[in-house]
Amino acid sequence: MSVKTEELIAALDNLLEPGQFRDYAPNGLQVEGCPEVKRLVSGVTASQALLDAAVEWEADAILVHHGYFWKGEDACIRGIKRKRLKTLLDHDINLLAYHLPLDAHATLGNNARLGDLLGLKVTGGLEVGNPRSIGLVGELETALTAQQLTQRIATVLGREPLHIDGGPELIRTLGWCSGGAQGYIEKAVALGLDAFISGEVSEPTFHSAQENGIHYFAAGHHATERYGAKAVGEYLAEAFALEHRFIDIPNPV
Ligand SMILES: [Zn+2]
Repeated sequence: MSVKTEELIAALDNLLEPGQFRDYAPNGLQVEGCPEVKRLVSGVTASQALLDAAVEWEADAILVHHGYFWKGEDACIRGIKRKRLKTLLDHDINLLAYHLPLDAHATLGNNARLGDLLGLKVTGGLEVGNPRSIGLVGELETALTAQQLTQRIATVLGREPLHIDGGPELIRTLGWCSGGAQGYIEKAVALGLDAFISGEVSEPTFHSAQENGIHYFAAGHHATERYGAKAVGEYLAEAFALEHRFIDIPNPV
């Protein structure tokens, strides 16, 4: 089966409500390709390796979390940007990118999926009072030691997280926000949570965790954002009877 590209975009916009977010890049159709989509690839980042894999599979559209045209980037089309755009345009592939809306979706978003996979029960948003909070707050059914939680994260994500030991002996309440949200540790501290999980880590995160008495887990930017685009790709494949493949291009960061 196939779907008109514009119908696919309408379905995505309806699902993810990009108009509700102030984002760092345009959400939706970033590069226009063919008018009809049969084969859809989903992935984390529209890197050259993902584009090449999509070309090889003869995909008509690629859905990603990290697209192009970020605020503040050089607007000129040179170097790797030229190569990436040329690959898309030469093969008539549509590039669909959703950033914050794909983090925040209540069931298919990166954070909802990550919480599910880690066995965390959502109790609220990290941004108190914001119904579209990107980060989430929740709890473990059974309290775990930091070592046990490290093990669980490693098993689920297939990657050993970096743990900064600062919190209580047993962890029950947690905040989490995928990607580069280490700065949100302050929000987790303000809520009095036992631990906070994000993807990346910065030098000040170490001191913040230790001095505020909270555990911090840097579980990988890529590793924590592998689930939203995949879930939305599967949703679209089901809705429009499309052929769909999630293609993981491993990234250790
Ligand atoms: Zn990200």
